[in-house]
Amino acid sequence: MPSDFKGNKAHLPSKPCTVCGRPMSWRKAWAKNWDEVKVCSEACRRQKKSRPSDA
Ligand SMILES: [Zn+2]
Repeated sequence: MPSDFKGNKAHLPSKPCTVCGRPMSWRKAWAKNWDEVKVCSEACRRQKKSRPSDA
């Protein structure tokens, strides 16, 4: 089989939100800092910050 598999153009990375656990789809806005993205939304980001156990 040739490796020119173009059927799945939307082959983008995804990972679970560290707060709510929902899968986050890769966004263009996150292209620069995908590795640093841990939460899916501002709400989750605040929740994460408010957790004292993360110190
Ligand atoms: Zn989340």
